[in-house]
Amino acid sequence: MTNSDALTFFIVDDDPSIIKLVGAILGVAGHEVVSSQSSVEALEQIATTKPDVVIADIMLPEMDGFQLCKRVKSNPDLVDTRVVMLSAKAYDFDKTYASKMGADGYIVKPFNPDTLADDLMAIVSASMTVRYWGVRGTLPVPGEGALRYGGNTSCVTVEVPNKPILIFDAGTGIKKLSDHMFKTMKGPITGKVFISHPHWDHINALPFFGPMYVPGNEFEILGAHHGDTTMRELISAQMDGIYFPITIREFGSRVYFRDLGEETIQVEGITVRTMLLHHPGNCLGYRIELGGKSVCYITDNELFLPDNPLYNESYVEHLADFCRGTDVLITDTTYTDEEYPSKVTWGHSCVSQVVDLAHRAQPGKLHLFHHDPDQSDDDIDAKLNAARKGLADLGSNVICEAPSEGDFVKL
Ligand SMILES: [Zn+2]
Ligand SMILES: [Zn+2]
Repeated sequence: MTNSDALTFFIVDDDPSIIKLVGAILGVAGHEVVSSQSSVEALEQIATTKPDVVIADIMLPEMDGFQLCKRVKSNPDLVDTRVVMLSAKAYDFDKTYASKMGADGYIVKPFNPDTLADDLMAIVSASMTVRYWGVRGTLPVPGEGALRYGGNTSCVTVEVPNKPILIFDAGTGIKKLSDHMFKTMKGPITGKVFISHPHWDHINALPFFGPMYVPGNEFEILGAHHGDTTMRELISAQMDGIYFPITIREFGSRVYFRDLGEETIQVEGITVRTMLLHHPGNCLGYRIELGGKSVCYITDNELFLPDNPLYNESYVEHLADFCRGTDVLITDTTYTDEEYPSKVTWGHSCVSQVVDLAHRAQPGKLHLFHHDPDQSDDDIDAKLNAARKGLADLGSNVICEAPSEGDFVKL
C-alpha cells in the first residue's frame, strides 16, 4: 500500500473488542483509525474530523446506526464521507433500510478478519459508470450519416454497483438499454428513470423499455410536473390506448412516479440535485454525486448569445455553479454557431456558448450531446473540432468529447 491509498476510518461500536479488532486490521493495512463507543459523541467528532469512511454498528444504545448514517449523509460538509454498516443483523430488511439511509455498504458480523480490509476498500472505491444509449436530439436518425455516433435519441445511464440503475431520459436509445439489460442482468432490477422533460425525444420510447413489464422489477419515474399535470399524467397520456396500444396499467413491474422541482434527493446514498433549465416548458438538469465523483446531465437547454436581449448572465453563472467541478458535463450542443441564428428560442445551445459554460464550470470532461437530426456524423465531428478550438483559444484544459452510442466512462 502507498501513502496515497491510506484513508481515515471512524469506527462507531459499543463493543470495545470490535473497535480493537477492526482498528488493528485497518492499522496494519496502513490506515488511520479513530473510534468512539458513543454514537452521539461520534456524530459530533465526525462532523469536525471529516473521516473518509465511517464504520457503524446498528444496535447502538443512544442513536442507532441507521440514524447516525442518515445524519452523516445529510450533512453537506460530509459529501465525501462513505458509511459502511458493520452489524450482526443479517436480515435483508436491515440491509435495504441501511441503503435507504444512504449507507455505501453493509458487512455482516462475524466478518472474516483476513478479507475485511479488502472488503471495505471494494465498497469505498465503488465507481460510477456513465453509458450512452442515444445521443441525438429531436428525432431518431437512421442511415449512413449516423453510423458512427448512432441515430437514437437521448438516453444515458449512470450505474453504481449494488445501487438502482439511474436512467436519464427515455428517447429511442432506451430500447438498446432494454436489450442490454435482458442480456446481462440477473435477478430483479431496481431503477430510477429521470426524465428531463416530456418532449417526444425524451419519453416516447419508454413503452419499449422491456424490464418495465417484468414482474419483480421496480422502477420510479421522476421528472418535472407541468402546473397541475403530474409526471404520471405526462407519461400515461402518451400511452392512453390511442397514441400507443399499451397503457401504463400493463407494466408488469412495480412502477411509481414522483414529481420533482428544484431540489436534492437521495437514491440509496447517491445524491441527485436538480435545476430548472432554459427550455420550453419545465425541463430539469441533473447533477449526480457519489463519494466526491459527479456527473451533470444538462439537456435540453438554451444558452443565448451575449448580444441577444434574452441573454441572462445570472442564469449562466447559476448553471455554471450547478455544474462546477463536475467530472463529466453532458450538455445540449444541438447547433453549430452558423446554424443557431435561425433557431433562436428553439430551446437549444450552440457550440460557442457551451464552450463558455464549460470554461466557467471547469468540468473534467465536456461531453457534447443532443445533436440536431439534420447533422451527419461528419457535422458532429465539425462541432467537436470547433468546441476543442474554442476551449484551446480560452486556454482551457477541459477535455472535450462527443460520445457515441455505446460509449462509456468510468468515474
Ligand atoms: Zn430534446
Ligand atoms: Zn425539448
